[in-house]
Amino acid sequence: MLRVKNLTCGYEDGFFLKDITFSVNDGELMGIIGPNGSGKSTLLRAISRVLKPLKGEILFKGERIDRMGFKELAQKVAVVSQSAEEITFNFTVKDYVLLGRIPYRKRFQILETKTDERVVANTMSLTDITHLSERNVGELSGGERQRAIIARALAQEPELLLLDEPTVHLDIGHQIEILDLVKRLQKERNLTIVIVLHDLNLASLYCDRLLLLKEGKIYSIGTTEQILTYSIIEEVYETPVVVEKNPVSSKPLICLVPGGKGKVRKNEG
Ligand code: ADP
Ligand code: MG
Repeated sequence: MLRVKNLTCGYEDGFFLKDITFSVNDGELMGIIGPNGSGKSTLLRAISRVLKPLKGEILFKGERIDRMGFKELAQKVAVVSQSAEEITFNFTVKDYVLLGRIPYRKRFQILETKTDERVVANTMSLTDITHLSERNVGELSGGERQRAIIARALAQEPELLLLDEPTVHLDIGHQIEILDLVKRLQKERNLTIVIVLHDLNLASLYCDRLLLLKEGKIYSIGTTEQILTYSIIEEVYETPVVVEKNPVSSKPLICLVPGGKGKVRKNEG
């Protein structure tokens, strides 16, 4: 579905992602993790073509994304970026979700079509915001707003969904609600999803594979069990942790150690 080959990109005189190569399979839920500033959002910006690669290429189903039209790309790849949560426009929820249909507009078309209406009704029901239809986006709670933003992305009817920390600022109930929704989209709609998460335990619970970034480079990539080991986490985050088996999910459970920052164990079994 998605192939990133030898990608180098970044900001003038500043941070760069260096030589990033990985692929995401059809229907996979791939997590991107890494410390603050390691380049997670930058990588999503490159995949969504906000940032131009300096070197390398990004292929969506074998086609270079920089050779696709903007509308064509937006009909296939939808993004929920970190800044999207700052929306405070004077939009009703329904009008906001309708924005996701813009890539399907014909020239000079002003009114939405029957298909637009149907898709929007569908995605609003899927994300459980139908009852909020006439409410103002700016008045929603954090969880409701995040669902509206995801609904707007889904209205694009994408094949690939990119999410940048969609659960940040949400309480645990809303975190689980959003990630259960993401998992449901993967299973029921066979969506391919790339999600940036900074909570390692959430990444452990929901992702099929993880890509771990450190200082703009891929530190490692693999299954949650392969990546979420104490030695890898301690090395990358410079913080000791204890990794147990989650009694509910059997996935790696990362336990933080108070007072441990900087005191990383060396060469321990
Ligand atoms: P992450 O999402 O992993 O926390 P980012 O990809 O947002 O990291 O940022 C990586 C680095 O790039 C940081 O050092 C950040 O300061 C820098 N950076 C992010 N956005 C910009 C920008 N628009 N211009 C210049 N530097 C930026
Ligand atoms: Mg970020």
